[in-house]
Amino acid sequence: ASYRRIAETDSSIKAFITLDEENARRQAAELDKQLQDGSERGLLFGLPAGIKDNIVTEGLLTTCASQFLSNYNPIYDATSVAKLKSAQSVTIGKLNMDEFAMGGSNENSSFYPTRNPWNTDYVPGGSSGGSAASVAAGQVYFSLGSDTGGSIRQPAAYCGIVGLKPTYGLVSRYGLVAFASSLDQIGPLTKNVEDSAYVLQAIAGFDGKDSTSANVSIPDYTSALTGDVKGLRIGVAKEYLGEGIDPEVKEAVLNALKVYESLGATWEEVSLPHTEYAIATYYLLASSEASSNLARFDGVRYGVRADNPDNLIDLYRKSRSQGFGPEVKRRIMLGTYALSSGYYDAYYLKAQKVRTLIKQDFDQVFSKFDVIMGPTAPTTAFRIGEQVGDPLTMYLNDICTIPVSLAGVPAISIPCGSSNGLPIGLQIIGKAFDESTVLRAAHAFE
Ligand code: GLN
Repeated sequence: ASYRRIAETDSSIKAFITLDEENARRQAAELDKQLQDGSERGLLFGLPAGIKDNIVTEGLLTTCASQFLSNYNPIYDATSVAKLKSAQSVTIGKLNMDEFAMGGSNENSSFYPTRNPWNTDYVPGGSSGGSAASVAAGQVYFSLGSDTGGSIRQPAAYCGIVGLKPTYGLVSRYGLVAFASSLDQIGPLTKNVEDSAYVLQAIAGFDGKDSTSANVSIPDYTSALTGDVKGLRIGVAKEYLGEGIDPEVKEAVLNALKVYESLGATWEEVSLPHTEYAIATYYLLASSEASSNLARFDGVRYGVRADNPDNLIDLYRKSRSQGFGPEVKRRIMLGTYALSSGYYDAYYLKAQKVRTLIKQDFDQVFSKFDVIMGPTAPTTAFRIGEQVGDPLTMYLNDICTIPVSLAGVPAISIPCGSSNGLPIGLQIIGKAFDESTVLRAAHAFE
């Protein structure tokens, strides 16, 4: 059914980069056999899943939507993929994204942009745009995405589905092609909150192969879905509802708060005073880390190697010039500059300090509130092509998601309305490792 749906819809949506039909059918047949003999079933038994193309899959092309990795066939599975396999979901294929997860519209894919299933003239968001669009279009039951500054939540909002960025360290990053290692997190994109809890259950947990993996006990997330939010204390960040926020988005969020009130929760306006520095801080830190992480792409170890180099340095130069797209090059240059001696203290170190202040903003609010709510993005999806010439405007779309990433705390985006036929997302932010409360609050709204 999944492949049939893809055949019907993907020529217009373009969510997939690679399909893995033969393997998936073989896996499905094995699960079928298991059904017959009545043996125990995994948590995600038989569910068709799509995987963002920066999460490595053994024997299945993993391109990061980059020309550089257009031929890269990994020899191992990411921990999250291995966990999905042991939960017995079936991998349908690999999903389109902004190249190396840098972007917020999918227009930075070096292959083709994915389109928003609600209106194919519009972007699906990014960078996990393929992951969001394929779930919204009913091609897969759920997908995995990655979120560095909003890349799960923002496309989930634009496509009218549920996207969860877990606490930094909850889901193993082993096998996730690194963009900004201190921010990257893998998480589920699903049609509803209950599915999100199930997928999180399957992929969360300590992994010795990821040095930043948190050794915490994993609760039963589905048992948190009680529907009860009586007494829940909601902080509403005024910085997320101020200037630059579309009035219709603001109205949808305020209406959602009324629903919470009617369910017995209370809300109050709060402040996250360092929000105005978040974008600058993020782009310094993320680009610095990216410039270091992407140094491994040298044309020797992975991916495509340039032809006819004059010498070794020329091999690096040619391979990187040909392999990386313009946005990736922009970030490498920005990051290399910020990390260079003489500028390190002024930019990188300063940004690290501001990151701490931003984290403290959250700590302060969470000493009095259970969750923080606001919009996921300032606007609904924009037209394909509308912002491509203007990277700064594109960066500003992440104003509501980036501070959360810098603080490392969990957040979910759930649908809370629409404007001109395009979905609006409500963002619910929680305390570190308190996914249960985030999921409970999100589920009660559905
Ligand atoms: N849009 C942001 C960026 O381009 C976030 C990307 C992400 O979360 N991977 O960096």
